[in-house]
Amino acid sequence: MSRQTSSLLAIAVVTVALTPGPALARTPTPTPAPKPAVTAKKTAAKKTPVDCEQVKCLALTFDDGPGKYAGTLLDTLKKYDAKATFFLEGQYVKARPAYVKRMVKEGHEVGNHSYTHPDFTKLEPAAIRNEIQKTQDAVKQAAGVEPKLLRPPYGLADIQVSDVAAEFGMPIIIWTAGSRDWDTKNVDAIKKQTLAVAQQDGIILMHDWVKQTVDAMPSLIKTLQGKGYHLVTVSDIVKRQNLQPGDAFPLPEGWEN
Ligand SMILES: [Zn+2]
Repeated sequence: MSRQTSSLLAIAVVTVALTPGPALARTPTPTPAPKPAVTAKKTAAKKTPVDCEQVKCLALTFDDGPGKYAGTLLDTLKKYDAKATFFLEGQYVKARPAYVKRMVKEGHEVGNHSYTHPDFTKLEPAAIRNEIQKTQDAVKQAAGVEPKLLRPPYGLADIQVSDVAAEFGMPIIIWTAGSRDWDTKNVDAIKKQTLAVAQQDGIILMHDWVKQTVDAMPSLIKTLQGKGYHLVTVSDIVKRQNLQPGDAFPLPEGWEN
């Protein structure tokens, strides 16, 4: 049985166990006292988190960075109040730590994308572990947080990669579609492809080392937001999936049983 299947079963069991609601005595909820006007004002000023069950969400993800255009990209994301997820390569985290710090500070998500970008399915577990750990350490040093998601290089994973990811407590995040930006390197083509594959709760693969991607971003974000998309982090999108460490999402082909 695949890990995904067993965790799905686990979810099913939990759901069943939680179902007999009426048997549980409920403590009556006390009527909340009206909040003072000052607090209400503060709450209104503070942004409410996006709920992807209520609104149309999309996650833009940027791999292999921080790339040299990350600063411009962060400016654009800030301007349009959009969040993104950066799957960082440890060697570039070491080279450009200030961008990583800024990503975290500005509410973006940072994930682990190895240290030197090898194909994990061709490595021994010890080498995979080393690639992941070195990147965890570099991100921690740069921004004070440790990534909670793993995207293996090329999106390639097998059961061994899944086992190592599980040791780190991380699910494996692939993508629902790619922008093909590394291939076309053309602003119009990147916009066209991204708009064609954008879908509710989609996870789009992009790269912040591709200048044309960063150039396309202001117009692309405006168009996506005009279509009703809320640009959120991967964790916002996968919240409802109840992913367990080592699970892959979306499930790669051939992983079902
Ligand atoms: Zn990559």
